[in-house]
Amino acid sequence: MTKLKFYSGLREIGGTLVGVETDSTICYFDFGFSYAERLDSKVNLRKGREAFDYVKLGVLNSVDGIYEPEVAHSLGLKGYGETDKEAFFIISHMHIDHMGGLGCLDQRMPVYMSSDSAKLYHELGVMGELEVREHENVIPVDYDGSFTFGDIKVTCVQVDHDVIGACGFLIETSEGKICYTGDYRYHGFHPEISAAFAKKCKGADLMISEGVTISFADVDMLSLEGPVRERSEWTLLEDMKNAASSEEGLIVINNYNRNVERIHRLIEGLKESGRVLALEPEQADYVAAFYPEDEFFVYIPEADNKNTGCHSEKRLSAPNLIGRVIVDRKKLMENPVRYILQQDYKNSYELFDLMDVISLYVHMDGAPLGDYDPSFAIFYSMLDNSGIHYERWGLGGHAEPYYLRKSVDMIEPKILVPLHSFRPEQLVSEHAGKIILPEVGDEIELNE
Ligand SMILES: [Zn+2]
Ligand SMILES: [Zn+2]
Repeated sequence: MTKLKFYSGLREIGGTLVGVETDSTICYFDFGFSYAERLDSKVNLRKGREAFDYVKLGVLNSVDGIYEPEVAHSLGLKGYGETDKEAFFIISHMHIDHMGGLGCLDQRMPVYMSSDSAKLYHELGVMGELEVREHENVIPVDYDGSFTFGDIKVTCVQVDHDVIGACGFLIETSEGKICYTGDYRYHGFHPEISAAFAKKCKGADLMISEGVTISFADVDMLSLEGPVRERSEWTLLEDMKNAASSEEGLIVINNYNRNVERIHRLIEGLKESGRVLALEPEQADYVAAFYPEDEFFVYIPEADNKNTGCHSEKRLSAPNLIGRVIVDRKKLMENPVRYILQQDYKNSYELFDLMDVISLYVHMDGAPLGDYDPSFAIFYSMLDNSGIHYERWGLGGHAEPYYLRKSVDMIEPKILVPLHSFRPEQLVSEHAGKIILPEVGDEIELNE
């Protein structure tokens, strides 16, 4: 018997946790944070008790067999290795709502992810950007590669999303095939990769699809005749090339540093513009890990004083950054038209020093992500007060409604389960046998 259990992340964006279970084995996906608003960053998680605190908050799930026995027992759960079925995780991509909880699992739990995700995951650990700790038992899988655990076979199928390494999965048991889209889009550098996912998953018995873009406005899915979105990663690249030649001062970009390919393409695309990217150490490390030939500068505001601000000596000693050329604030101020500075939101006060030479600040998918985040209003009033000229070029990472439906049309699943959306019921298709909208805790049998 194959059954699916839906733990969380159904009518919300984040914290998707589904278990596919046979008589002997359980395959879980993903393991990010849900109900993130239950976390108040003003209250500290207790060191060594993070998993316990997260479960108590409802940010992570109460599930037997996944946490360290000591933690699990204090939660009234069975620990890792204490259940009668063998369990493993598959993780679709390195966004916090899909992987933020990994550091809380028992370190022996097998966690499979794409090879690119595994590489990025490790670098996030190197640069101190992981929650709690780096999980020890991560097993990389190549795109289109398969593995079998117990009696469940999993194939890692690449999708295009705004983070390097993203994939969906094809999960097979003796009773049928399940596909999980993870998060995907058609306006990235590789729409053909998202289209190929649908082809490879055609005929799945059950399809689990994200539905982020149908979360708010009413959408009449069946009447959509084609894509309406005009902007893409390619148009953003062109816009930046134009800005690089027309702007007469420093350009600052606030991007999401896990979207590594965007920065790689900017580095290549701007070669003839006379400007070079100056990247913060974290971003520099992620780019160098995937594209070691890329030429860029590492930005350290005060190069002689490496311990100031967020740029610790430790980060600069990351293997990928040794030997890279460093530029400091003084250099940027002397010749601002020669640079594009990449700056994370957390380092925004550096703008106070740079504002006289900035001619354009571009908010392109970095934090704060939207006006639902209280930081958003605070940040924009800071930009207004400082007189910095800014533009918003964000693209997001999710397929527009037309493509959400088109993927279902192409896959033609017997059962469709939309989730990862505030309004999953809006995802409909004439080519899905039936649509199920599970509630938290529901179980369904694959061949019911
Ligand atoms: Zn997501
Ligand atoms: Zn995502």
